[in-house]
Amino acid sequence: MSAIELRQIAKSYGPVRAVDQVSCTISEGEFMTILGPSGSGKTTMLSLIAGLIEPSSGRILIGDRDVTELPTAQRNIGLVFQSYALFPNMTVEGNVAFPLKVRHVPRPEIRRRVEEALRLVRLTELAGRRPSQLSGGQQQRVALARAIVFEPGILLLDEPLAALDRKLRDEVRLELRRIQRTLGVTTILVTHDQDEALSLSDRLLVLHRGRVEQSGTPDELYLRPATRFVADFLGASNLLEGRLARDGTANALQLASGSRLPIGDTGAAPGDSLCVLLRPERIQLHAAGHDGGVNATVSECVYHGQSVRYHLRLDCQQELLAVAADRVPRFAVGDPVCAAWSPTDVWIVPDPALSTGDASI
Ligand code: ADP
Ligand code: MG
Repeated sequence: MSAIELRQIAKSYGPVRAVDQVSCTISEGEFMTILGPSGSGKTTMLSLIAGLIEPSSGRILIGDRDVTELPTAQRNIGLVFQSYALFPNMTVEGNVAFPLKVRHVPRPEIRRRVEEALRLVRLTELAGRRPSQLSGGQQQRVALARAIVFEPGILLLDEPLAALDRKLRDEVRLELRRIQRTLGVTTILVTHDQDEALSLSDRLLVLHRGRVEQSGTPDELYLRPATRFVADFLGASNLLEGRLARDGTANALQLASGSRLPIGDTGAAPGDSLCVLLRPERIQLHAAGHDGGVNATVSECVYHGQSVRYHLRLDCQQELLAVAADRVPRFAVGDPVCAAWSPTDVWIVPDPALSTGDASI
């Protein structure tokens, strides 16, 4: 039995299909992230699961119960939504106790559970403060404590880290994962931040225009994206188009310019149109004249501390991005280089827009 199941859920606002026939299941204890650009339907999907809005069609199951018509309060869900701000006139303790008070939990039990929740989010010391006396990260942790204090079966988080600066975001991100693991609560997080999605989740679901583009584990989506959109949205990517050609027994991608780049097995026939993905970190750069690889010129070089991003222009004018874990840049703008990769690092993106001779690619 899944913890949550969506069956053909749709929500329209006039002509806008915010969520368009989405079906998916989330297992007990799983941490799932809904990832997608702004306007792709993430908040709408989460609001449907929470019962904050009603679907235009479809069913929502929690456990083995159909909750489609149930109000939020009866779904046993903890929410951290942007629209669910802390109560400014209450202390941290008062905020966290609130969901227990409305559930008429006895007072000693409230005290015990609030203490426990504050300990979990490491805010025990600040129990007497008001939200205005807290940093952004501390406020988010109070919101989290308030969402988990009544031991909900499901935790729904809508971009809970979006307002935090980078360092704090990394910190709260780790806390969130620790707390989710400790409680084992089924969690759905919404984000447009691919780093956050890849690092936090057991499973990802990529939304695009209200539809599921792909769902799977972070590495499945990163290494084997099912669509161009996923390949492009998740991480930095080189997406190249061309036709399958043979160089002896090896496969190559023949670009429009006629140049050929080495690729691995495709299942496609020579002449078929292909779209391939080559991740920038899979490209090795060598000094010009190196045996094997393709010749290129460095057109831009950006230092990132832990890595260097090299923008390359191949002799055939095709541009490529390469990311290397160089301590300092090894090449400068204008340098001739040789770019090499293993053909097995090239992923053929199954692109229905392109004609392929073999549907199994
Ligand atoms: P996301 O959270 O991914 O940014 P939303 O779920 O908020 O996306 O919105 C998805 C689409 O539905 C958008 O086109 C948005 O404008 C539209 N939408 C969302 N809520 C409403 C609403 N209450 N009324 C009209 N349109 C809405
Ligand atoms: Mg949103």
